[in-house]
Amino acid sequence: MDLNPTPEEERYRRGIREWLAANLPAHPRQQDTNRPDWIEPARAWQRKLLEAGFLAVSWPKQYGGQGLAAIYQVIVNEEMARAGAPRLIGEEGLLTLGPTLLVCGSEEQKRRYIPKIITAEEIWTQGYSEPQAGSDLASLTTRAELVGDHFVVNGRKLWASHAQIADRMFALVRTDASKPRHQGISYLLIDMRAPGITVRPLVQIDGRHDFSEVTFHDVRVAKQDLVGGLNNGWKVANSTLANERGNMGLNAGPLMAFPHLLECARRVRRGGRALIEIPHFRQRIAELQIQLEALRLHSYRQLTSSMRGRAGGVDAMVTKLAGSELGHDLAAAAMEMFGDYAMLERSQGDALERGAWAYHLMTSIAFQIAGGTSHIQKNIIAQRGLGMPRER
Ligand SMILES: Cc1cc2nc3c(=O)[nH]c(=O)nc-3n(C[C@H](O)[C@H](O)[C@H](O)COP(=O)(O)OP(=O)(O)OC[C@H]3O[C@@H](n4cnc5c(N)ncnc54)[C@H](O)[C@@H]3O)c2cc1C
Repeated sequence: MDLNPTPEEERYRRGIREWLAANLPAHPRQQDTNRPDWIEPARAWQRKLLEAGFLAVSWPKQYGGQGLAAIYQVIVNEEMARAGAPRLIGEEGLLTLGPTLLVCGSEEQKRRYIPKIITAEEIWTQGYSEPQAGSDLASLTTRAELVGDHFVVNGRKLWASHAQIADRMFALVRTDASKPRHQGISYLLIDMRAPGITVRPLVQIDGRHDFSEVTFHDVRVAKQDLVGGLNNGWKVANSTLANERGNMGLNAGPLMAFPHLLECARRVRRGGRALIEIPHFRQRIAELQIQLEALRLHSYRQLTSSMRGRAGGVDAMVTKLAGSELGHDLAAAAMEMFGDYAMLERSQGDALERGAWAYHLMTSIAFQIAGGTSHIQKNIIAQRGLGMPRER
């Protein structure tokens, strides 16, 4: 693995850095799906990135991508994080479904869906988890019965991010209850406006509702919207999860949060000294920086594997686990360093950084759960990566 950028990569990095400096929107620090006035500016931001050539960078040109090598997408991710750019409204489609369709979708599905993922014309939500099927996803019970040219879907999904604003859902459904659990599951693309769908937003720890419960009552889905063949959904889903997990690590807050932590530690003073001068905190910051660097190098290793045609697999899980744990460690360190003022909400006048660190802490817990909990990642890494025996 050669970590030195080529002159072309350096030029590209300079290009996006300059473009972001000139074009970054004035935006609230975090996305807020509770506010309808967030949606159109968020779509406009995604389209602006696309017009500048910085979206779907490594996707094939025939579906609306830029057709560049994967390293250029990594450069874009790094520079967006460095600049504090807002998260993309179409991220479920961009990070998860799009790469899955590119591998498992039919030609018709690629042509129909991928261009609209890129332009944010269609927002997607992920329908995997259910009340009794989160970590143990293969026990899902939402069922789809093939009747003529349509599947008829009945059941309930939970924690579907962005479902309240989504146009479509990619979902796992049970299509054959007589087969072993993993073999009777299919992967469907569902129109969220179809009759029989009810969306109920769920309240999060921070009071917002970015995810929802979705119920299906005799919802019809055309046969053409089955991805990867009947009862083959587990294989398709694993390709999706590998993407999601790898991306979560690469995109995770640490890249953005660390420079912010450093800047606050230089500015905030205690006992006449900047926090960064206090040995205990200085040591903590150094440890976090080492972890961040290890994560960065690991994500390059993952990139090298994918460029050599090896799927994300265990590497993606390590990225997800390390990224989400580091995000939590960073936020917890900030809360300890900055003390009581960091705990105040943004509406309270004395809140440090308008409540950003308390918000980071709450969000970091969500990232330890979303896309598979840290416990589950550790189990899988132990079994598939280290060859340890399965738990009983
Ligand atoms: C912010 C956020 C966004 C999400 N977005 C989506 C989405 O868009 N679409 C979607 O389908 N889902 C989504 N999820 C759901 C997420 O995938 C599940 O919450 C997650 O897989 C855990 O499932 P669960 O909540 O049912 O917990 P459970 O599976 O009930 O787990 C409860 C606890 O037990 C532990 N545990 C369970 N089994 C084991 C084991 N074998 N060994 C050790 N520990 C174990 C878990 O680690 C956890 O701590 C989201 C979740 C969050 C927090």
